[in-house]
Amino acid sequence: MGVDPSRRALLKGRLEYSSALRPPWTRDEPEFLANCSQCGDCLQACETSIIVRDVAGFPQVDFQRGECTFCRACVDACEENIFRDPEREPPWRHVADIGPACLGPQGVYCRSCGESCEAGAIRFSFNAQRVPEPSVDTEACNGCGACVSVCPARAVVVGPLGPSHSARLQSTRLQEPS
Ligand code: SF4
Ligand code: SF4
Ligand code: SF4
Repeated sequence: MGVDPSRRALLKGRLEYSSALRPPWTRDEPEFLANCSQCGDCLQACETSIIVRDVAGFPQVDFQRGECTFCRACVDACEENIFRDPEREPPWRHVADIGPACLGPQGVYCRSCGESCEAGAIRFSFNAQRVPEPSVDTEACNGCGACVSVCPARAVVVGPLGPSHSARLQSTRLQEPS
């Protein structure tokens, strides 16, 4: 028996939303989508107002609005089986990544992302011939997103750890003074 067209469209749409950054401690995307009632309580509870609705009405994090303080208010507000245990697990495994739009490689001095990072996870290259260029220490980054909205070039994104992170950090470490 074939899949009902409306059901297929719904599933397709849900798959397309799977790259959205959900609130901290949320379960895997399929479980999240199956259990979230879209009540909006987590949006109201968020102390930095970074949780918004995606196009389908599910909550997602928008770091252009601010940072996550890991206050757990969204976890406490939710009455559904959405969140993992904050006492036992990290909020997520996302880290910041700096893309090619960064002003540093273009010869423009900027350290805004580094100045916003309380974890000290953003390193800058040292080279007398060039302006400093940032990279993210993924071991130190907690994915709070504080570095995202402050970037004048919109070069910073937060998402799953990927190979580009370690490659860029390694490149920076090679340029740092011993
Ligand atoms: S409080 Fe829970 S059920 Fe309500 S929108 Fe947020 S995650 Fe979904
Ligand atoms: S704030 Fe943006 S432009 Fe400035 S150094 Fe950081 S990534 Fe580059
Ligand atoms: S996401 Fe937070 S911890 Fe990670 S580099 Fe940006 S400000 Fe630092």
